[in-house]
Amino acid sequence: MLKRYGPRLIRIGFAIVISIMICQFPLDFLEGYFYDMRIQFKPASPVSDLIQTVVVDQETLRALQRDPHAPDHIIALKNLLAAGPRNIVMTFSPAEIVGSYDELKEWAKVATSEPGKLTYLLNQLPIKGSDVETKLPAPLETVAVMPGLTTYDKTIFAKDGVTRRFIYSYESNLTLHAQIANAINGLVPSQYYGLFDYIGTKQGYIDFHPIGTYKPISFMQILNNTFDHEQIKDKIVLIGRDTLEDSRDYIVSPYSRNNYDMTNLEMHANIFDTLILNRAPILPRETYDFILTLLIAIVTVWVVLALRPTRGLMILGGVLLAFALLSFALFATARVWIGMAHPLLAIFICYYFFIPYRLIRENRKSWEYYQRNKLLTEVEELKSNFLRMMSHDLKTPLARIQGMADIMGQEAENLNDKQREALQKINSSSEELVEFIGSVLSLNRIEGKEVKLHLKSKDVNKLVHDVVNRCADLAKKKSIQVILELEPLFSMKMDEDLIRQVLMNLLENAIKYSHENSKILITTEEHDGQAMIQVADQGVGIDQADLPNIFDKFYRARDVKDSEIKGSGLGLYLAKYFVQLHSGHIYAESEPGKGSTFTVQLPMDLEFAKALEQQGERYGESPRR
Ligand code: ADP
Repeated sequence: MLKRYGPRLIRIGFAIVISIMICQFPLDFLEGYFYDMRIQFKPASPVSDLIQTVVVDQETLRALQRDPHAPDHIIALKNLLAAGPRNIVMTFSPAEIVGSYDELKEWAKVATSEPGKLTYLLNQLPIKGSDVETKLPAPLETVAVMPGLTTYDKTIFAKDGVTRRFIYSYESNLTLHAQIANAINGLVPSQYYGLFDYIGTKQGYIDFHPIGTYKPISFMQILNNTFDHEQIKDKIVLIGRDTLEDSRDYIVSPYSRNNYDMTNLEMHANIFDTLILNRAPILPRETYDFILTLLIAIVTVWVVLALRPTRGLMILGGVLLAFALLSFALFATARVWIGMAHPLLAIFICYYFFIPYRLIRENRKSWEYYQRNKLLTEVEELKSNFLRMMSHDLKTPLARIQGMADIMGQEAENLNDKQREALQKINSSSEELVEFIGSVLSLNRIEGKEVKLHLKSKDVNKLVHDVVNRCADLAKKKSIQVILELEPLFSMKMDEDLIRQVLMNLLENAIKYSHENSKILITTEEHDGQAMIQVADQGVGIDQADLPNIFDKFYRARDVKDSEIKGSGLGLYLAKYFVQLHSGHIYAESEPGKGSTFTVQLPMDLEFAKALEQQGERYGESPRR
């Protein structure tokens, strides 16, 4: 149990440890980068159409040849108020307007003529203990001032100076953004999505719109009263600067790291719309980040250890892509921002940690294979050396025995019956031994790949006659009649000795495994460019269970193994090998108790058959091989 699941548990344990460690590291910089990518590629969010920006731009500076002064501001403000805006929000301080005390006083009078309409958005938070002044100096002290801090990740979170967040409230006081949004959509703080607590404030992430979404009206048009009043009526009018002169008028946004691409004004417009439409991105809790990181770590460890490297890489790539697409899709459709940095880091760490481990493991395995292989080759060599030596060493004494037996046979008339029978046994046993040694030597040659074909044009029928003659005595002893039905055949290229050995083996087997007084039929014919030689007997037959194996090395059917019929189990193995060397086939059919038929198919045109074989095709393949 432990042996089976142990390694798996260790891997999962490792993935857990890695995930815990990774999640300890704040990867806000990377996370911020992935977040910005999602912002850039998501479809544009809807706008409330309740916001209009007014900019003191380069056109204004060109037309006036200077900054607008207090008298210009007074006229512009009057023109604006006449168009009936819902709110006017100034994003730069009225105290910066150039003008005399009286002119500024006059401006303040116009600005407060409709109570609660104009507010200066102070870029600071009067948090407890700080000395932020929320009142403008005289004569502007009557002008409403509301905090609405522009945040950027300079020293916290991603630390890349990009503005991504807004502040909803501080110490239970709402910012101007929150107040105006609440008044429009009627929501209470708990109903907003994506708000989180951060050092005494409630913050959220801005649902950014691409740069240029909010088309501003130039201050000059307001001053000259040449603007369309409908664009201002009931709108939240944000007044700011876009003169490319002061970096305080701009922010670095997720869309561009360029300092002058997005105005402060546009950022405020984005914040207002995020709150009015309640569309702040939602951050799932940190536990989800951990669970996701853990899951991905487990998948990576599994992929690295269990799959083949290319397949593993492909699957990991797939996981990476699927994860990136999923997080993008979640953000684009539901504004859910799932962390990507920790899971991605988990993939890399787990991958690079486990690859060497796997390499070591595989190296060890292949070393073991190599050792085992080496041992096997050595054993194989020893075996064939032994067989060769043994066969050669046996041959000489055997020849001597046969010679002696022959001499004794010549004087057979001096022997009594018992002695004659013994002599006969000596003869047949030594013949069996010669045959066995011959088979073992052939096997050795095959395994040493020493067999080479000596091709000559030969008539198969002649070879059959030759084989039948050689076996005539054997057949006669069992009174077996060998019948030949040979169709005339063209001569064909073959190694005469090998094919003779094949046919000898088939006929000897047929005689060996036949009853006395039975018949053996040998036929030859040409069929489809193949010479077909069949040896059919009426002998013991072969059991269906043995039939598929009789061509295997040293295989003998179960019932003959225990019988008196001697054999090595090598004959058919060698026959099959020799036939295959000729690009031919050999197969057997049999009915136990009734007899067996062995068929040899040899291509008439050996060269053509060999050429086909090289192209991967087989010539005249038999369905029953
Ligand atoms: P063996 O030396 O045992 O004859 P072979 O390789 O020539 O070895 O044959 C393998 C086995 O196939 C034999 O042991 C026998 O069981 C079976 N066999 C081969 N030829 C015949 C046949 N003509 N009739 C019945 N069984 C046969």
